[in-house]
Order: sequence, then structure tokens, then C-alpha cells
Amino acid sequence: MLAFLNNTDLNSHNMEKYMTIIRDGFTGYWNYLLSEITHPSLHNYFYWLLALSLLVWSLELLLPWRKNQKAIRKDFWLDGFYMFFNFFLFSLIGFNALSNVCVELFSDFLALFGITNLVAIQIQSWPVWAQFLTMFLIADFIQWNTHRLLHRVPWLWEFHKLHHSVKEMGFAAHLRYHWMESIVYKSLQYLPLAMIGFGIQDFFVIHILTVFIGHINHANLNWTYGPLKYLLNNPQMHIWHHAKELPASRPYGVNFGISLSLWDYLFGTAYMPHSGRDIELGFPGDEEFPEDFGHQVVYPVKGKLKIMN
Ligand SMILES: [Zn+2]
Ligand SMILES: [Zn+2]
Repeated sequence: MLAFLNNTDLNSHNMEKYMTIIRDGFTGYWNYLLSEITHPSLHNYFYWLLALSLLVWSLELLLPWRKNQKAIRKDFWLDGFYMFFNFFLFSLIGFNALSNVCVELFSDFLALFGITNLVAIQIQSWPVWAQFLTMFLIADFIQWNTHRLLHRVPWLWEFHKLHHSVKEMGFAAHLRYHWMESIVYKSLQYLPLAMIGFGIQDFFVIHILTVFIGHINHANLNWTYGPLKYLLNNPQMHIWHHAKELPASRPYGVNFGISLSLWDYLFGTAYMPHSGRDIELGFPGDEEFPEDFGHQVVYPVKGKLKIMN
């Protein structure tokens, strides 16, 4: 193993491989984005995101919960930009290339120990719907835990504050978050999901479904789905997640659910004392939080940069 690590030829060969992955990651993603925009189809993220956004926005305008909230609420355009940035631009700028390199580095690392196959559980013989359901449940549970970590771990909370800095709630606040969150969420779910051998390659349907549920959860809509509220996250439940004032017994937050509310009811973090229509949103000290994209993105590291100077 040491001989392998010291072999410069092999190392430079590896470097070249990673550089190629980075280059292909950028150009591949750029070509992908261009063809998404120029080729509308049923299997197209760009147009699905656009269509779902218009649909949920129309629902907000037709059936508003807070009747005096403006159609173009505070930070509407900023959140719209975050939506496009987090869904497309961040991948273009580097996430695609970076994550491909990490996956390759990780499998090369495992190969050092003779591990070439991560799959521990095979479910590809299951019916497709059962595979989708399994994927959806596992991913949502991991995301619920990741979201709790974002609130519980101080340096992660510095990044997550951005999502909680929204003061007027609407569908576009769904994708108002720091790009670091994409890295945290994707990294934590990579290994558990890679250990399951799915027979399906294409998770487009799950992805679009979760975007739709997330948009609804942040929308200005008075929906709880009756008894289904114990299963599905909903706008009334999620607004309490954004409450500026938290119950004394839950100082790190409540209602961490992403698509499902089930985990919050199972593990005792559900909290809906009343409708919550007009509660103040934010977090203690949000008056100091920057208002524009550039300052918001550097906010979590700004204090540390000052120390270095
Ligand atoms: Zn949160
Ligand atoms: Zn939210």
C-alpha cells in the first residue's frame, strides 16, 4: 500500500484523472444546463421548477393565508435568485465537478482497503414503486436528521441562519439557503444511499415531488391536510419552524421535517400551539443579518476572516 502511495507515476496519473473529472464536470454541466433551457420536455428540471413555482405562486395569490401579504413580498426576487442559484448555478460553478471528484476520491480510498463495492442491501428485484418509496423514506429521514444538525451544531447554524432570515413567508423561500447546505445534505446521505442497490437510475420523479412539497410548505397557504398532517409536512407546521420565538423546552428548534412531518411526531419535536398565521419569523439577532446575496453568502465566515486579518 505504501509503495502505491509513494509511486509518483501513479499519483500523477491519478491527478490527471481528477482534473479530467473536474473539466468534464464543468463542461458537461454547462452543456446540460444549455440543453435544459433550449429543450423543454417532460423530463426537464428547469421547466418543472418554473412550472411548479408558477403553480404554487398562483395558489398563494388565489387562496392567501395572510390576506394582506403582497404578491411580490419582501425578498421575493432575492429568493427567486436563490432558487435558480441553488438549483442550477451552484452546480455549474463547482458542485457538480467537486462532488464527482469526491465520489472518485472516496472509491479510490476504499479500494486501498480492497473495498470495491459499497452495496450492502440489494433491492433491485423489488417493484419500482417500492424502490421509490424506500428511497424517499430513507432520504427524508436522513434529511430530517441533517436539518436537526444544522440547528444543533454552532458552525452549521451560522450557514443555516440564511434560510431562517426570511421575514415574510412565500413559496420561493424554500430554496433560500446557503450553498454549503447542499454539500452538507448530499455528503451525509451519500454513503447510506450508496449502500443500497437500487435498480432504478432515474430519481427525477422523487426530486420533482420533493420540490413541489417544499414549495407548498413555504407557501402563503392555510393547509394542514386534516389527519394527514401527522404524515406530511405542511405550511402551518413549517411556519412554526421559522418562528422567531421558540418554546423554552426546545431552544434548538421545532418541526425539522422536510417532506414528512412523521419524524417530528415520532421523536417529539412537533410543535403547533395555534395556527401561527401572524407569528414573527426569523431568529434572535436577525436585525443584524445582511440583506443582499453577496454579504449573506460570506456571513458565516466573516467573523473568522476578521480574526485572520
Ligand atoms: Zn431550519
Ligand atoms: Zn423553511
